[in-house]
Amino acid sequence: MGTPDKIGGGRIIGPEAVLCGGFAIMSLPRTLGELRHSPFSEAQLRSRRVKDELRDNLMAKLRQGGPIFPGIVGYDDTVVPQIINAILSRHNFILLGLRGQAKSRILRALTTLLDPHMPYVAGCEIHDNPYSPICRPCRDSVAKQGDETPIAYLTQEQRYVEKLATPDVTIADLIGDIDPIKAARGGHELGSEMTVHYGLLPRANRGIFAINELPDLAGKIQVGLFNIMQEGDVQIKGYPIRLPLDVALVFSANPEDYTARGKIITPLKDRIGSEIRTHYPASIEEGIAITTQEAWTKRDGYKLHIPKYVQEVIERIAFAAREDKKVDKRSGVSQRLPISCMENVISNAERRAIRHEEKLVVPRIGDVYAAMPAITGKLELEYEGEMKGADHVGRELIRTAIAKTYDGYFKGTDMNQVVQWFDLGGEIQLADTAGAGEALQALRGIQGLMEKLVKLNVGPKESAESQVSAAEFVLEGLHAHKRIGRNEERLFSAGEKPQKVAEKPFEREDAPFRGRRPFN
Ligand SMILES: [Zn+2]
Repeated sequence: MGTPDKIGGGRIIGPEAVLCGGFAIMSLPRTLGELRHSPFSEAQLRSRRVKDELRDNLMAKLRQGGPIFPGIVGYDDTVVPQIINAILSRHNFILLGLRGQAKSRILRALTTLLDPHMPYVAGCEIHDNPYSPICRPCRDSVAKQGDETPIAYLTQEQRYVEKLATPDVTIADLIGDIDPIKAARGGHELGSEMTVHYGLLPRANRGIFAINELPDLAGKIQVGLFNIMQEGDVQIKGYPIRLPLDVALVFSANPEDYTARGKIITPLKDRIGSEIRTHYPASIEEGIAITTQEAWTKRDGYKLHIPKYVQEVIERIAFAAREDKKVDKRSGVSQRLPISCMENVISNAERRAIRHEEKLVVPRIGDVYAAMPAITGKLELEYEGEMKGADHVGRELIRTAIAKTYDGYFKGTDMNQVVQWFDLGGEIQLADTAGAGEALQALRGIQGLMEKLVKLNVGPKESAESQVSAAEFVLEGLHAHKRIGRNEERLFSAGEKPQKVAEKPFEREDAPFRGRRPFN
């Protein structure tokens, strides 16, 4: 079997062992005797607790430089430094934030700070430290087999246990219970240490235990948790045994639930070392970065081009919703809204491309409206919103998002010529299912429109799909600003003019009155 040198260069059981990959696994010690003469020596391991391990590996990562939690976007200056401090302080900590703020993701990412391989007594349900086993069967086994005691290993992911708190979680679920079947099979007395059925927490021994939505845990379960944090051990109901567990406890909660009086017992709150607030992306750019990372966009078959303004509109829907008084502030608007929306937008564009045998998939604003099913379910509405209906609220949010995005590109740009074309009776229908070739022909008939697309970096040499998407965005922008009208069938036409705008249609020199020009 492997020599110690083969594990991560032999000095510490640090992240460099990861580099050895499968080779390291091949050469890991398989017995307690081998373990003693490996980098997993007694001196190294005996007193190394999970929080020491997290701290050591974090310090190594900090010295290396680079991101501590790759894939966590927008928290570099806020949440991440606070988490680092909590870990360096060896704290149990809680993340407070609204839904869709990557709380679970951050907690799961903590596993990257664990050793790549953790040796334990093979077969032990609570993954006992071979040098200081706490359960009775392991103590017996080590006493009997000595250096021949078989050793097994856990990966980083296997050392993460997660539980969504609900009011019906029991002490038995969390900590453990008597297992009468185990007792009968093994011929043990009920109450013997050999008959314990371990709950989630002992099974998380020497790992990370995450409880999401902590305030939903019943009071007496919170007391149980407090005991673990206070005494560092658990007592199993009716058993004369104590298990001095080694667990890093991390939690998440909605801030309002957490701070509400009586939801969390004070001594438990007192034992949570750090309280860290998460937040939604601070800028549209950060939101786009997260959505781009999370949404399923790399699909087979079709070439996809997502215009920047479509990304912005999708992101701004979430931003607008977070500010809208018709949307419930306490539950928040998850980042999953723009992510799901983006996926649906691409799918609607794919559907159009397949139907018209187009090679390039370019989402349009019309696809955003078609993505309503990915939006409405993510909004918890206030009374006023409920009265108006989720669809109505969703459409208003999209329109607000379009208006703001449009302003980013076209504020101060003279669009009178385009508006006039509609005022003179021009109409164009742009169904979200309309093929690019046909739609482009019709859009080119609108005086002054296509040359405006340079602001979107779209010229006449661009693909028809891109030109149509860009031109439609301009029309949607004008509609969002109420300069032109548009009905449910996506027929763009003259808007209702406020009185103060005096139009002089007969002085136009470039085009005669063109009447209705419907497009199908
Ligand atoms: Zn054990």
